[in-house]
Amino acid sequence: MAFKDTVKTAIFFCLNAISTFLPRHRSAVLLYHSIDDNDVYLTVKPEIFEKQAQYLKENDYRVISLKELAGIIRTKKEIQPKTVVLTFDDGFLSHYEKVFPILKKYNFPATFFVSTGLVGGSMNNSQGLPQSTMTWEQIKEMSQSPLIDIEPHGVSHKDFSKIPLLEAEREIIESKNEIEQRLNKKCFSFAFPRGGCNQDLAGLVKRRGFETAVTIKKGLVKTGDDIFMLKRNTVDSSCDNNIQFLARLNWSVVLFDRLTSPLKF
Ligand SMILES: [Zn+2]
Repeated sequence: MAFKDTVKTAIFFCLNAISTFLPRHRSAVLLYHSIDDNDVYLTVKPEIFEKQAQYLKENDYRVISLKELAGIIRTKKEIQPKTVVLTFDDGFLSHYEKVFPILKKYNFPATFFVSTGLVGGSMNNSQGLPQSTMTWEQIKEMSQSPLIDIEPHGVSHKDFSKIPLLEAEREIIESKNEIEQRLNKKCFSFAFPRGGCNQDLAGLVKRRGFETAVTIKKGLVKTGDDIFMLKRNTVDSSCDNNIQFLARLNWSVVLFDRLTSPLKF
């Protein structure tokens, strides 16, 4: 595994260099899950997350809110190079305990997508182990910060592409209503649980009054993209070095997938 990671990092080093020659008027929308001290693949350690925040700051990345990015795309303006949006899925307790203080320290805006039925309880991580989620009190405290935006991620975290459309619609409405009532706000974005999305689901989200929706499909976002199927690059435990992290901010992860899956061509 360690050897595989070293090879991957070496490949990303080359792809990062190639990426500098590719179109730059794009935004990376980063997707994080839990930020904690465990060895789960999708978990990023708190000190690594802080290093990544520092990297963005020191290298003059423009960290903007998802709402601002949606506005740029909707008004067909050009996205500035080195634009980054931070998103966190699943409402883990570590978002309140570890992420919130770091965001305040760096003055970075972020969107947190919460599955309303799992608030104040636990949620299984990518290894099937339960991890605590935030309470409504903690979510409320975060949402009072101008940096933080809380948006729905369904009720039960089921994959919408595997349940009847009517049930998915009910989850979209219920999770939106609960967040709007509890936090006294209007929701504008939806994250499809487990990435399950298609045109029917994107249409549903649009009809229910959202301005945008995000997926887990890899890639950078540009003006002209479908605003109800925005791509996001997942930051996981392999991003513990700047080479792998930089690969999530540019074209490298898409180039890597193309290189390693010739059938996609
Ligand atoms: Zn999720």
